[in-house]
Amino acid sequence: MYRKNAWNKYASKEEVFAFAEGYKKFISFGKTERLVVKESIPMLEEKGFVNGEKVSSVKAGDKIYFINKNKNICAFIVGKKPVIEGLRILGAHIDSPRLDLKENPFYENHDLAYGDTHYYGVVKKYQWVTIPLALHGVVIKKDGTTVDVNIGEDPNDPIVGITDLLIHLAADQMQKPAAKVIEGEGLDISLGSIPVKEGEKESVKAGVLAILKEKYGIEEEDFISAEIEVTPAGPARDYGLDRSMVAGYGHDDRSCAYTSLKAILDTEDPEFTSCCILVDKEEIGSVGATGAQSLFFENAVAKLLCLQGSKAPVFDTRICFEHSKMLSSDVSAGFDPLYPQVHEAKNAAYFGQGLVFNKYLGRGGKGGSNDANPEYYAWIRHIMDEGNINWQSAEIGKIDVGGGGTIAYILGNYNMDVIDAGIPVHNMHAPMEIVSKVDVYEAYLGYKTFLIAK
Ligand code: MN
Ligand code: MN
Repeated sequence: MYRKNAWNKYASKEEVFAFAEGYKKFISFGKTERLVVKESIPMLEEKGFVNGEKVSSVKAGDKIYFINKNKNICAFIVGKKPVIEGLRILGAHIDSPRLDLKENPFYENHDLAYGDTHYYGVVKKYQWVTIPLALHGVVIKKDGTTVDVNIGEDPNDPIVGITDLLIHLAADQMQKPAAKVIEGEGLDISLGSIPVKEGEKESVKAGVLAILKEKYGIEEEDFISAEIEVTPAGPARDYGLDRSMVAGYGHDDRSCAYTSLKAILDTEDPEFTSCCILVDKEEIGSVGATGAQSLFFENAVAKLLCLQGSKAPVFDTRICFEHSKMLSSDVSAGFDPLYPQVHEAKNAAYFGQGLVFNKYLGRGGKGGSNDANPEYYAWIRHIMDEGNINWQSAEIGKIDVGGGGTIAYILGNYNMDVIDAGIPVHNMHAPMEIVSKVDVYEAYLGYKTFLIAK
């Protein structure tokens, strides 16, 4: 159903609300790409997916997954048709904008200890001060041991945060443009204020390091080989008096990651091979070993083809991709009635109207966008309507007011049909983003419909 309010589809809201509970749990735990991978593995295994590195052949209906560097997952259900006849791919990213601790983060100033950060992805920096923050990630010690760090989520844990200037003394600051109010080098988190003896002098930094040493057995130098992400602290919550929405960190793009993952978990015996791929590094250009441009995905498909007896898996992967269809599952800019000036109302995504398709994104005349083929979009319209899915079509915003991109064009380069399909979000890239529960549910249903479509 095109552009109808999806809530009307449900006589009882229970089904939609129940799905949102699972989603809230998923993003409350999955504050980093590694944590999303960690929580996804048992979900896959419970549904019969096995590690693809441990099997020697596959047949129709078999379920396997591959993990890449603890930051990507690629899951498959082998179709009734041979893999080479094409995949149905759901691809989402599991990295979200945040602040990363620098390699040498620790310093002290006037009896206060700090951790210096480098922001990741595009953020309005002023949104990240005076809010509760948590620390998540890994420190890899020189002997190769991985230490998991998690501080700020348990209600008994301390939190950290970044200070802002008191309004009483902010006369100069208040005159600055928003991009300069808080600058990148100003995003330093407060870590402690109790001095300990360090040789002859007293040091609050030494006090903080002593706590890390005691709790985790890690030294200051170990942070050189670490990945510590500073994220908003606390769980996702119901939003609105009617509880119709979810407020939380990382809806971009874990709302599409969760719904894509759930869609493949709830699929059995598809005609075409189902695939769900969750990637890292989308927010900084999909680069590197764990981004969408990595050979990991190609290699995973080549391995799958080998398991089905391919003698020329590299070439067969290309043929398979040419026959594949993909939904680039990523969030959309939800129309915000408080900022109507940035949207073009006929071509905007609305809360409650379900799964959003973006034929193209990009900036400055569709620059860098995938721009889906109308032949493919017509097929999408057909299967969504057949599946009774509430869906809508949108652009990211008014022409030349900004722009954005997803992983769509990267998969499009393989000559497969790709279209962006996701969930409208308010406050995108803010520490607290908002989605509508019914859009999350329609996305899940739409993704499932896509996987089983002929
Ligand atoms: Mn995104
Ligand atoms: Mn984003």
